[in-house]
Amino acid sequence: MGLRLVLLGPPGAGKGTLAGILEKELGLSHVSTGAFFRNEIRRRTRLGKAVNRYVSSGRLVPDELVVRVMTRQLARRRKAKGLVLDGFPRTVGQAKGLDAFLIARGLGLDGAVYLDCPTSLLVSRLSGRRVCNRCGSNYHIRTMRPRVAGICDACGGALILRKDDQVKTIAKRLVIDRAKARPLLEFYQQRHLLYRLNGSGGVAQVFQRVRRLMQREGWLHDRIEDGRRD
Ligand code: AMP
Repeated sequence: MGLRLVLLGPPGAGKGTLAGILEKELGLSHVSTGAFFRNEIRRRTRLGKAVNRYVSSGRLVPDELVVRVMTRQLARRRKAKGLVLDGFPRTVGQAKGLDAFLIARGLGLDGAVYLDCPTSLLVSRLSGRRVCNRCGSNYHIRTMRPRVAGICDACGGALILRKDDQVKTIAKRLVIDRAKARPLLEFYQQRHLLYRLNGSGGVAQVFQRVRRLMQREGWLHDRIEDGRRD
């Protein structure tokens, strides 16, 4: 594993979109907890059944379960050029679980990047988001439209509104996130790993901000482009 980054921020801050670009442009491996859970739910696996009631109502899956399944996912990506974690950790308990996993392997995080956005923008991004019910690709009814309305460009699947993107659930998710976010940010701040970035604006703008940060910190050169594996 080369560069190891965590993306933090409330639902709708653009973590998934940014992580997707970092995967495409820089070859980092995008690990999304939410997408992983949704896929398990779609496949009706035992894990999917266990997490469904949390995910569909916007509540957090218990830490112990999240840490167990996500560290297993990370262990499978040992040879990745780098990792960008989207949606994990979301609590201090999970951050400690991730730390323990990395420390046991002699590894650490390079940074935790927090995407800051005003609440009105979060609500408009989430309520306009549409997701492919087959491959999980994301769209937006105003800012990221598919070529044919209601149909996924990538696989032809139907675009749907996620249950947890319904307005009443959005409000609940934002409240839950706010309660967990402050101690999590403090956790990374104390370790000098926290970087705050403006998450508003278009996808290209946010990517440019992250790229500048990566350049400034020497991550692009030292941690990715020399292809180092550790
Ligand atoms: P997301 O796609 O990141 O918005 O996640 C969707 C849902 O999956 C969340 O509302 C939670 O129910 C669940 N989830 C995702 N990541 C986590 C996590 N790190 N801890 C607990 N629950 C999570």
